[in-house]
Amino acid sequence: MRLLVTGGAGYIGSVVSDQLLGAGHEVVVLDDLSTGHRDAVPAGARLVVGTLRDLAFEVLDGAGFDAVLHFAAKSLVGESVERPGLYWDKNLGESLALLDAMRRAGVPRIVFSSTAATYGEPESSPILETDPTRPTNPYGASKLAIDTALAEHARLHGIGGVSLRYFNVAGAHGPFGERHTTETHLIPIVLQVAAGHREKVFMYGDDYPTPDGTCVRDYIHVIDLGVAHLLALEACEPGSHKIFNLGNGSGFSVREVIDVCRQVTGHPIPAEVGPRRAGDPAVLVASSERIRSELGWKPERDLRAMVADAWAFARRG
Ligand code: UDP
Repeated sequence: MRLLVTGGAGYIGSVVSDQLLGAGHEVVVLDDLSTGHRDAVPAGARLVVGTLRDLAFEVLDGAGFDAVLHFAAKSLVGESVERPGLYWDKNLGESLALLDAMRRAGVPRIVFSSTAATYGEPESSPILETDPTRPTNPYGASKLAIDTALAEHARLHGIGGVSLRYFNVAGAHGPFGERHTTETHLIPIVLQVAAGHREKVFMYGDDYPTPDGTCVRDYIHVIDLGVAHLLALEACEPGSHKIFNLGNGSGFSVREVIDVCRQVTGHPIPAEVGPRRAGDPAVLVASSERIRSELGWKPERDLRAMVADAWAFARRG
């Protein structure tokens, strides 16, 4: 297939682009390089630098694309609370421009990076796709609005769409990994301590209603996540919008994650309890039953593999 990957210079987009190339697809990356890196784009892909608003139609029109994989987004919860307008403008606004360009250019399929943040504070665990969506921050709200726009484009314009609701993505794929200027995610931060770039890690709260008091999350390896995108591409059906959660289905606390990082790196990794981070639900664990039964997806890499691969990536320098 000829595929447009938006955000293909970012962490997840670059990993999935490499997997798509490996599966024999043709990949064009569209990325404004606001947070991505030019050298993260796999060698076999063509890079077009610019925004979806400016360039999506120009790139898609008359070029025979079979599908779009839409990763491009602002994705920091804290930043979204401080600058909601930016998140509505970049995430929803640019996605609407992309959908409009797809409609005008006749591109039939889209796989979209949605998020567990669309659910907000869950009422029950594990989270099902049929659970209520009550996002607690503008990041989750903007992603939920895009899911809605996809459903409407499917219903009204016949596009085939799949939204994959990611839980906590971690790990690396050879030279493709997580390189954020401002790092906020737990595993890369802990590994920065092991690499000597940080003195210690702060655990954001130990008074949550969880077994050890720290927050519990569902971590999924970025390679397993990429495999789900390949399956989702095949599952796009004209006129339908499907939603699938994507997690391993088991929860690990912040303390447990730090322990696994200690085992993998052999570093003591000093950790201290700090205040809670605003907006953190106590437990976020996915039910991935729907994607397992409907698409035959199965995660194959555990937390230790995620940490080992992220550590190998961090040590490449
Ligand atoms: N966390 C932490 N210290 C850090 C970074 C994160 O204790 O320096 C916690 C955070 O509160 C959450 C979990 O680790 O409970 C995972 O956070 P992350 O930002 O990686 O992903 P999120 O769950 O917010 O998408």
